[in-house]
Amino acid sequence: MKVIKNAMLPSGLRRDIVINDGVIEDIVKDYDGHGDVIYVEEGTYVSPGWIDMHTHTFPKFPPYCAHPDEIGYMHGVTTVVDAGSSGADDIDEFYTLAKQCKTNVLAFLNISRIGLKRMDELSRIDDISIDEARKAIDRYEHFIVGLKARMSQSVIGESGIAPLKLGKELSEKTSLPLMVHIGNAPPTLDEMLPYLKKGDIITHCFHAKHQNNIFHEQILDAMLVAIKKGVYLDVGHGTASFSFQIAKVAKRKNLPFHSISTDIYEKNKEEGPVYNMATTLTKFLALGYSLEEVIRAVTEVPAEILKLHRRGRCSPGAIADFTFFSIDDEEIALKDSEGYIQHHREQIKVNAVMLGGEYIEL
Ligand SMILES: [Zn+2]
Repeated sequence: MKVIKNAMLPSGLRRDIVINDGVIEDIVKDYDGHGDVIYVEEGTYVSPGWIDMHTHTFPKFPPYCAHPDEIGYMHGVTTVVDAGSSGADDIDEFYTLAKQCKTNVLAFLNISRIGLKRMDELSRIDDISIDEARKAIDRYEHFIVGLKARMSQSVIGESGIAPLKLGKELSEKTSLPLMVHIGNAPPTLDEMLPYLKKGDIITHCFHAKHQNNIFHEQILDAMLVAIKKGVYLDVGHGTASFSFQIAKVAKRKNLPFHSISTDIYEKNKEEGPVYNMATTLTKFLALGYSLEEVIRAVTEVPAEILKLHRRGRCSPGAIADFTFFSIDDEEIALKDSEGYIQHHREQIKVNAVMLGGEYIEL
């Protein structure tokens, strides 16, 4: 038995969290039973373990990769989801690596069997094999949580909308959500959005790329229709896909994003503008979202999108994954993908994590 004593939840409430065998047993006001006690320092928040649903963690295909633990638990992220680095051809190798990590690693399977072996993985339609993808999904039922299609000009070449149609077919056959990366047109968002269904995900929702971002009224309207249908918007910050200016427009026009993810890999981790999840979350505090909204977008919401019923929440029966962090009163220059700098006087900093009941100070 373990007890996290005096945990300050993102709501500001203080509770004792009782853990038995890696699982949350109870959340009480004042626990006076037995157990190893972890005292939480004044000013430290305890939230469900963070879930980053857009990362690149398959080291076989540089440069878009990083080791799962180095972007995972070491930075407060207890679950990392790789967003299509691997397709059916390499999923066995990726699974083997994933199982050696402390961090919980999951995957969106690239609909192209070659994954990110080539950066234009959807330019040859023959690389999309519904059969091979289905076999991979059958082999790794709890590891593959969705499908990924990178639908932007440099990835699809001359393929047009065809890869998206195949992605949709695969998604319907496997009941897995389809995550669609958006960027430079063609294809335009207008063309793509009708193919998305309830539960699917648009990633890079606040990118500022030419003619395909929400500055265009028509696109904003189409996005609002998609959200009504039940399509989720994911941030997927990345090197080139997060603009403060676009995020501010979204806030002003009530376009709600759902999940905050980093699209992190080695280079944007070391040189920015991503660095880590804490910095990405701080950007949303700087935009004026509340701490509770921000934390929900990296815990409860991604868990719901990915149907991870025992993660992302602090309730009895959930796996005991937690992130311990503070909000320091320190000036920070927050850089977006366009080189714009937003100054803010608050910084989220990770102090420790708990992974399935194992407490690790950082
Ligand atoms: Zn990505």
